[in-house]
Amino acid sequence: MDFLPALIRWYREYQRALPWRETSDPYAIWVSEVILQQTRMAQGMEYYLRFLRRFPNVQSLAAAREEEVLKIWQGLGYYSRARNMHAAARQIVLERNGVFPPSFRELQTLKGVGLYTAAAVASIAFREPVPAVDGNVNRVLARLFGIEEPLLTPGFVQRVWALATSLTDPVRPDLSNQAWMELGALVCTPRQPDCLSCPLQPGCVACARGIQERLPVRLPKTGVRPRYLHYLVLSLQDSVFLRRRPQGDIWQGLFEFPLVETSQMADLAGLMQHPEVSGWFDSQPWRVQGQPVCYRHRLTHQLLHVWFYEVKLTRMPRLPDEYIMVSRSSLDDYAIPRLIDKYLTEL
Ligand code: SF4
Repeated sequence: MDFLPALIRWYREYQRALPWRETSDPYAIWVSEVILQQTRMAQGMEYYLRFLRRFPNVQSLAAAREEEVLKIWQGLGYYSRARNMHAAARQIVLERNGVFPPSFRELQTLKGVGLYTAAAVASIAFREPVPAVDGNVNRVLARLFGIEEPLLTPGFVQRVWALATSLTDPVRPDLSNQAWMELGALVCTPRQPDCLSCPLQPGCVACARGIQERLPVRLPKTGVRPRYLHYLVLSLQDSVFLRRRPQGDIWQGLFEFPLVETSQMADLAGLMQHPEVSGWFDSQPWRVQGQPVCYRHRLTHQLLHVWFYEVKLTRMPRLPDEYIMVSRSSLDDYAIPRLIDKYLTEL
């Protein structure tokens, strides 16, 4: 079966109307591609529109402070994406006079731009015939050709890349790349693919063998590390204390309340005796108001157990220098992890 014409006919008829499909501006396409990684479509759309309203071009993004970029990104997670975009925008403005790199090869020189993003921008904005292979495309091609090698192993990657290259339209790679992704998003879904509506069904190996749901083969997940984080929301009159999270850990660069991390589950009594915490209060008596609030939050390789304790103080605590004092009413000006935002909203 000749897959490409059938796929493109289907795409022209059934594609969703999405704002980034109505532009050939490489900046807007790049923003959409980065936001949509690891993000649901409805949420991604909202962030895309908000991001472009605030930073309509690469110059405005480059000129922004990192905090402003993180603030717009707040709630999307994987904050390194925002930091990399900001750094890449500065690269484009400072090193390339604000002109977007126009090729697959040059796009990969930008901070945070890997094979997939470079291919998506190069093919959609500049019509360079390179395949854009994301999770959707991996799944569709694994099923279509009955690939049994485990997902993302070298053998799998090579095979899919070769197939995707041969299935990229040389003249309209923008259409064929988006069509493959759209088929994966709408028809060849991870569970219960809708093979009866699939334009490629007559040539599909997995469908013929009835093994659609088994492909692509996934290797078992690596272990998940539990972490125990205790936030002490210290209030002095109408102010609280924040610090920026350090480099090299989750939520890097975002703001948080005074934190103690323990290696095991700890109750309040254990926390009060923690050397770090007792140093903060010196001889000042303190107690927690109300019940501590606890959330569990799953990241790719970590399971966070996060507690919030509200503590009212009458004197300055002895916190390390990295902490700053801010009024509660100005908390909105600080980019904070989604979980802290959730806590403050529910409070
Ligand atoms: S026939 Fe089914 S399994 Fe095969 S590509 Fe189409 S939706 Fe996916």
